[in-house]
Amino acid sequence: MKKIAVLTSGGDSPGMNACLRAVVRTAVYHKIEVMGIMHGYNGMIKDEFIKMDAKSVASIINRGGTILKTARSTEFMTTEGRDKALTNLKKHGIEGVVIIGGDGSFKGALEFSTMCDIPFVGCPGTIDNDLQGTDFTIGYDTAINTVVEAVDKIRDTAESHDRLFFVEVMGRDAGLIALRAGIGVGAESILIPETKTDIDDLVVRLKNKRKSKTSKIIIVAEGDEAGGAFKIAQEVKKQLPEYDTRVTILGHIQRGGNPSAMDRVNSSRMGFAAVEALMQGKKNCMVGIINKKIEYTPFENAVKHNPELDPDLMRMVNILSM
Ligand code: ATP
Repeated sequence: MKKIAVLTSGGDSPGMNACLRAVVRTAVYHKIEVMGIMHGYNGMIKDEFIKMDAKSVASIINRGGTILKTARSTEFMTTEGRDKALTNLKKHGIEGVVIIGGDGSFKGALEFSTMCDIPFVGCPGTIDNDLQGTDFTIGYDTAINTVVEAVDKIRDTAESHDRLFFVEVMGRDAGLIALRAGIGVGAESILIPETKTDIDDLVVRLKNKRKSKTSKIIIVAEGDEAGGAFKIAQEVKKQLPEYDTRVTILGHIQRGGNPSAMDRVNSSRMGFAAVEALMQGKKNCMVGIINKKIEYTPFENAVKHNPELDPDLMRMVNILSM
């Protein structure tokens, strides 16, 4: 393999830069030319290819976001768009591609593989942790730490005013950020898309908390079926008018910030392994880390959502927040 390309795609996540650095430097070490593709699949279509070397990824291991920029590309969803992308990959003599992105990006790579034999290897760059074949995706740990830090601050004001706070976190289809961050902040309840949200039951559980408890925090994943933090807060307020309730939507701060040490290490390992996987002839698979070991999962399996959560975790949340 003489020349590869690398791109970041879909939502940005902290650690994408560290992964990119690992891809570029591993390739340079093996005397493989590397081109970066700007703006995800859009850049592949619009021929935004740039030469990269060891220096071009200096001082980025600690930076959030992605220096290659990223995009959600509607044009890549069309055959015409993918044809243009293929023409550009061929024009630049690309023999393999590392794609750093989430499930949508890997679905795109799968679709592309039906019309092109250039191998793609993926690194799971998404804060959602919603991919099969890795214990942690790149950015998940940082996002959780961002939520925990923010909710700790909310807890201070909630305690001072004896308030009930509903804090909405990212997770349209998966409640994994809500679940882990909720455990980390000692939330009184965690509402996620994977489980049914029963407002009456939530009200009973709030009433049953110990009397000396002054503040209460409910973490709500944005995709929760009961309709988001504002709607749920309204419903609860109807039944508990004596509660002083507030809503905070954390929003995009969850995507930004310097990657945690764990994200930097994981993304470096994955980027390194992705280049070596291409050299070994692997294709259409995602690099992941399971039980501390690098593993490869075919894209079609990696993108399958697993809505099953460990029921013990939810049980534990209710017990520990007595
Ligand atoms: P995140 O998990 O952070 O949202 P993602 O990779 O899932 O990241 P998406 O926007 O879902 O983000 O997907 C990235 C891009 O992949 C899309 O904008 C689109 O260009 C491409 N893509 C997704 N699904 C397909 C598909 N079925 N066919 C072709 N291209 C696709």
